[in-house]
Amino acid sequence: MTEAKLDKVYNPKAIEEKWLNYWLENELFRADVDSKKPPFSMVIPPPNVTGSLHMGHALNNTLQDILARYKRMKGFDVLWLPGTDHAGIATQNVVEKKLHAEKSDRHKLGREIFVERVWKWKEESGGIIINQLKRLGASCDWSREQFTMSQELSRAVLEVFVRLYEEGLIYRDERLINWCPRCLTALSDIEVEHEETSGKLYHIRYHIADNPKAFLTVATTRPETMLGDSAIAVHPDDERYNKYIGKEVLLPLTGRRIPVLADAMVDREFGTGAVKITPAHDFNDFEAGLRHGLKRIAIFNERAHIKANIPDINPEVMEEISDLHAHKAREKVIHILKEKGFLIKSEDHKHAIGKCYRCKTVIEPYLSPQWYVKAGPIVKEAIRAVEEGRTRIVPQGWENTYFDWMRNIKDWCISRQIWWGHQIPAWYCIKCNKDEIYEIEGSEARSQKSEEKQKINVERFVSAKAKPIVSRTEPKECPVCKSKEIIRDNDVLDTWFSSALWPFSTMGWPEKTRELSRYYPTSTLVTGFDIIFFWVARMMMMGLKFMNDVPFRDVYIHALVRDAEGQKMSKSKGNVIDPLVIMDKYGTDAFRFTLAAMAAQGRDVKLAEERIEGYRNFCNKIWNLARFTLMNIEESEVRSQKSEVKNSYSLADKWILTRLNAAIKETTEALENYRFNDAANSAYQFVWHELCDWYVELIKADLRGERGDERKRTAQAVLLSVLKDSLKLLHPLVPFITEEIWSVLLQRTELRSIMQQPFPDAGADYPDEEKDMTCIMDVIRALRNLRSEMNIPPALNIEAVCYSNEGAVRKLLESGREYINMLARLSSLKVSAPAGRPENAATVIAGGVEIFVPLEGLINFEEEKRKLEKEREKVIKEIEAVQKKLSNEDFLARAPKEVIEKDRARVEEFLQKKSKLEEGLARIKGR
Ligand SMILES: [Zn+2]
Ligand SMILES: [Zn+2]
Repeated sequence: MTEAKLDKVYNPKAIEEKWLNYWLENELFRADVDSKKPPFSMVIPPPNVTGSLHMGHALNNTLQDILARYKRMKGFDVLWLPGTDHAGIATQNVVEKKLHAEKSDRHKLGREIFVERVWKWKEESGGIIINQLKRLGASCDWSREQFTMSQELSRAVLEVFVRLYEEGLIYRDERLINWCPRCLTALSDIEVEHEETSGKLYHIRYHIADNPKAFLTVATTRPETMLGDSAIAVHPDDERYNKYIGKEVLLPLTGRRIPVLADAMVDREFGTGAVKITPAHDFNDFEAGLRHGLKRIAIFNERAHIKANIPDINPEVMEEISDLHAHKAREKVIHILKEKGFLIKSEDHKHAIGKCYRCKTVIEPYLSPQWYVKAGPIVKEAIRAVEEGRTRIVPQGWENTYFDWMRNIKDWCISRQIWWGHQIPAWYCIKCNKDEIYEIEGSEARSQKSEEKQKINVERFVSAKAKPIVSRTEPKECPVCKSKEIIRDNDVLDTWFSSALWPFSTMGWPEKTRELSRYYPTSTLVTGFDIIFFWVARMMMMGLKFMNDVPFRDVYIHALVRDAEGQKMSKSKGNVIDPLVIMDKYGTDAFRFTLAAMAAQGRDVKLAEERIEGYRNFCNKIWNLARFTLMNIEESEVRSQKSEVKNSYSLADKWILTRLNAAIKETTEALENYRFNDAANSAYQFVWHELCDWYVELIKADLRGERGDERKRTAQAVLLSVLKDSLKLLHPLVPFITEEIWSVLLQRTELRSIMQQPFPDAGADYPDEEKDMTCIMDVIRALRNLRSEMNIPPALNIEAVCYSNEGAVRKLLESGREYINMLARLSSLKVSAPAGRPENAATVIAGGVEIFVPLEGLINFEEEKRKLEKEREKVIKEIEAVQKKLSNEDFLARAPKEVIEKDRARVEEFLQKKSKLEEGLARIKGR
């Protein structure tokens, strides 16, 4: 076997593919249900099967993978359970678009063939995201990959539906629901996006029925729906309208007489204080309709077009608005009202309208029979579990969001009028429900206004009064009348219904599996705040209901990934950063490290490419450190163990071992508390700014053998052991590069993946030596600063004098003399108790030591003085310019916050530079 070496240059692409395959082939991500180790489990938030990796997935899965790898190294049997969501509406839309391109549609295919077609699409094109997650390094147990529409998970869905129905927690009812007239389906409240828009408020005259001279003025933003009005409402204490309560008005454009009601929901300040009540087209009015027993008159069909035969309507009006879409109908109705003198005025008015979260079509409140889950009885346990800390939400601030929603929860509309999903296991007996089932034309036939309506477009409509037969298997006959003529409910379940069961359905429920008893409740859920309601809350309810225990001990909620300016990434803004492009350009490890380093709790990630570039440099640094180590360690010496050389540790060795312990403790504590950014930053600071910047420099002479064989061996052993621990510390964050280096380092001893190594434990500390080394480093730093301020050429060795009152400090400086001489480039160092001040010397105090550098002969004083003064003037001008800008109120009002902050930081920077220059000047003047 030829000896593997680290390539000269770090090339992420080559090593990432190699190690991903190695991990997969050796099944290193597998959980072991028979393991004696303690379990640690997570379920992945299942990405949509239509999905492609975006920044949200990348952050979410990087954080989960860090936990999974960390816990494995900490000695846990880790189950990270992956899978995808069938994503009802989203997937159906993808396939419908394809059909559209083929000049076909789902109605032409019919339900069965359409669903087959979606399955075919899923087999061929679905699940791209799974490979993208693998590329990210996600160490899921891929042998357990799940899909919400699989046979097993569908069985769990069926079981939950039937049990809830049997307990009276699922029911069917006709209510006003959010309806997307394009997707032709109901949506739950949280699937509606609200958007501020400018519309108009119309003032319309409604005449009093028995006194046509008198009238009420009603203000409305939706005049077209007046054709479905069934009352006028005023506030009971509104003196303006008291006298009309109980009277009737004539609804314009129709022959309908409707009552004037008193209802405390009316806002006296809004419009005229008299409002129309349209129970079939407005949510508040629907409730008012229930309170007052009003008729529900629907005027739109499912595509938001005017229905045929609106009750009581004027035939000419009907003809003019027949089959118009809602917004066209509004124009027409306003036109007619104006013509007939009913419209008093219209004024500009801003109000929120709801849009479909999938297709952005304006939502219509729509009266239709739907299935609901009664939330009240199952929400209580879910609230209590968080109150009692059985499930902990991190950061804690999100608890309030959870409680607010849970305490105000409404019944959950779970039926969707699409074909791709879990079809509701309910049937109807045609005979027993003969007045409740009737045929309607399919929407396609109507929109084409064609004569040749196909049979396929005729659907059966089942009213909410029909009595369903809910069953685990298809019923052969009606249990009441034994008729064999039964039909199945057309609706499918909301996608989130199956996702709500994810933590236990994926582990084999309703069977009592070993997986469930070992891994449920899961340890941690990592998710974004945008799906707390859609998903987290519902998993809590379902888990408690069906498993009698919470689905997870901890829920870690992470923030959003935004662009560098803090803007939300969106296609329309063109500021989307594609994770795949980033991984190609900088490597997966650099990308993962960036996400972790920026994932501070409660703060959005502002992703700037410079940051990723910076962490790519960090990966290069790790690579070069490993190469340096390999080059300085001969084969025979690799085996020297830390324990064998313990007695010859130098000050620097003891210092770096103590600093390593601190980094291990900080990183461990941060990971245990979901402070991913602190974990990343502490590992970064240690490896770059302590190990590479200092320790490697401090031991170079040792490694060259300048201080004898024993020192050489010891330095080699310590460097190797610190590097090994650093790699383990870094592995959960940057798995690929650490595995590659590990394999090269250890090929001569053992060939085991770094994944299977224990996470490093902190060893013995040397607090005294740490303090001493810090003092010596302070002196070196001070000397280096002084050199640069005085513009002393880097290659020039200088003399220095150090004064200290304390004998111990002087002794320390003596013992650190070699370090100081080497790193501060001194030709001589004199250490003594304070004596006379050397002539023409620059001076600085560091760590209680007074340091002098005689400058005679090193620099030209006059020239140096001029140079420093000139620079100082330049800096002062810069400061004045920025400060002038910052005192301009106009600028402050208009400039983006980031720009102002940047300018303020610049002033700070210049001020620091100025005081440095002044120190330098003082040194020259004071000679
Ligand atoms: Zn839609
Ligand atoms: Zn029957």
